[in-house]
This record gives sequence, structure tokens and C-alpha cells, in this order.
Amino acid sequence: QAKVAGKGCYRFYSKAMDQAVERRVQLEEELRGAWDRGEMSLLYQPIFRLADNRLMGAEALCRWNHPRLGVVPPSVFIEVAEQSGLIESLGRHVLVRACQDAAGWRQPGDEAPFVSVNISPRQLRSGDLPDVVASAMRGSGLEPAQLHLELTETAVLGDEVQASALLSRLRATGVKIWLDDFGTGFSGLSHLRRVPVDGVKIDRSFVADVLRDPDDLALTSAIIAMAHSLGITVVAEGIEAEGQFAVLRERGCDQGQGFWLGRPMAATEIGAAFTAER
Ligand code: C2E
Ligand code: MG
Ligand code: MG
Ligand code: MG
Repeated sequence: QAKVAGKGCYRFYSKAMDQAVERRVQLEEELRGAWDRGEMSLLYQPIFRLADNRLMGAEALCRWNHPRLGVVPPSVFIEVAEQSGLIESLGRHVLVRACQDAAGWRQPGDEAPFVSVNISPRQLRSGDLPDVVASAMRGSGLEPAQLHLELTETAVLGDEVQASALLSRLRATGVKIWLDDFGTGFSGLSHLRRVPVDGVKIDRSFVADVLRDPDDLALTSAIIAMAHSLGITVVAEGIEAEGQFAVLRERGCDQGQGFWLGRPMAATEIGAAFTAER
């Protein structure tokens, strides 16, 4: 009896798996050329200095407006792009567009606004990242310090020695390197000594619980203190409530990003937000 059920189960799962594979293959096919067909766009989420609420820059977040499925989130298509290798051309387009958009941002005050661009592990490994970055910047007229590259902790740690060399090369051009989703990789603070970075973005899973969980608050405070002692800037992501904002500011976190501060918005909208800053 169990055998029969087992067989049935097997057939069921296998069919479901076939369908999943099929969907994936189809998604990959559709993703190919999606940028050229005008289906991809970038939204920009504002990033603020917590001490005085000054708008400092924005993170570019990719969206796929699929003709049949509607808006497909990056949590679905970035993985497909990464595994198929399509991320390399998609990543190039994103960099070029983000630099172009940001070159038009004007803001009163001393510091020019920055744009932060997510770089996937495969882009980091591909080796031509410095060339891709340089050519995107050259075409736009953006100052190097206005471009931040966000790399995940895990991407950098895969091959620390090679990554460090690459990051040093990029930093030498004036571009800033940020570690994204920081704290989730368990690699921890000791890596900050060996990997050359300008900033860390505390993952939103910590931020979500800073008011409820003393451990998360302790960890967040430790990250801030350690980063500051190394001269590294700290950004908190996923700030969804005023209480989180207040406690992070009180703990000395430099910058913040989250739905409570501002949602991802179209390029024209963020451009207007910079102009409106005093
Ligand atoms: P990420 O780099 O950690 O980006 C932050 C994500 O958190 C964004 O999701 C943003 O919309 C979301 N977020 C911001 N504030 C809040 C908040 O207060 N609460 C909550 N719950 N979420 C918030 P999104 O746009 O769906 O992007 C997801 C991930 O996809 C990004 O995570 C990034 O890893 C990746 N991604 C997005 N665009 C690109 C891209 O152009 N290239 C690459 N390689 N990856 C990208
Ligand atoms: Mg990011
Ligand atoms: Mg992040
Ligand atoms: Mg995250």
C-alpha cells in the first residue's frame, strides 16, 4: 500500500517538478531580450542621513514588467538571470541606466547625491566588472564617488582573496563599495578588516526586530561600533516604523532606507526629490 502511495507521490512530484523546470526555462527565454524590448525599468529608493534627515542618495532596484505576468519581482528573475548568465548583460544595462539617471540629479549643498547599484555574485566573478563600471561612468559624466556598488557578504566571501583584489581596483577609481544584507552571512565583523569596503548595509531582518529583540539590538549596535572604529559607514535597510528609525539614530547608525522613510520610486520622482531638498 505504502508502495503504491509512494509511486503516486513520486509521479505527482515529478510532474510538479517538470512544470517548475518548464516555467523556469520559459522565464529564462522571456528574460532574454526583455531589456531591449523595454520591459525592464529601474526604481530608486531614497537613502537618508539619520542625524538630520538629509536625502543622500538612492538605491537602484530593477523591475520587470512582463507582458503576460505583470510586474515580476527581482526575487524571481535575478536568480534566473544569475543562473543562466543573463545577469551579465542585464547588469551592464542597469549600471549604464543608473549612472545616466544619477548624473542628472541636482541637489543644493556640498555632497553630490549617490546612486547605489546591486552587483550579483556572477558579475563580481566575471572579471570584467571594472571595465563595465568604467565604461558606464565614462558615458554618463557621473563622478566616481557618486557610484556605490552593493555586493552581498556571501559573494565577497566566496573567494576573499580574489574579491579583495578586485574591490581594491574598483575603489582605486573612486567608486564606493558597500556590503549588502550585512549580518546574514554569519561571516561577521572580522571580515571587515580584510575586505576593503566603504560601507555596510545592515540587513532588514535585524532592523525588523531591533525594538523587540534585545539580541538584535545588541548585534546592530555592535556592527555600528565596529564599523565606525574601522571608518566604515553604516546604513540600515528596511526601516518600516518611526521607532526603528529613532533607535537606530540614537545608536549612531549613519544612514537609513525603508518604507517608512520612502518607497522605491520612478527616476523622475527621485530626481524631483533631490531638487526639492534644501
Ligand atoms: P536589496 O539589495 O537588499 O534591496 C532592498 C530590498 O528591500 C528591495 O526589494 C526593497 O524594495 C526592499 N525594501 C526596502 N525597504 C523596505 C522595507 O521597509 N520593508 C521591506 N519589507 N522591504 C523593503 P526589491 O526591489 O524587491 O529587490 C530585492 C532584491 O533583488 C534586492 O535586495 C537585490 O538583492 C536584488 N536586486 C534588485 N535589483 C537588482 C539589480 O539591478 N541587480 C541585481 N544583481 N540585483 C538586484
Ligand atoms: Mg541592495
Ligand atoms: Mg539589502
Ligand atoms: Mg535584503
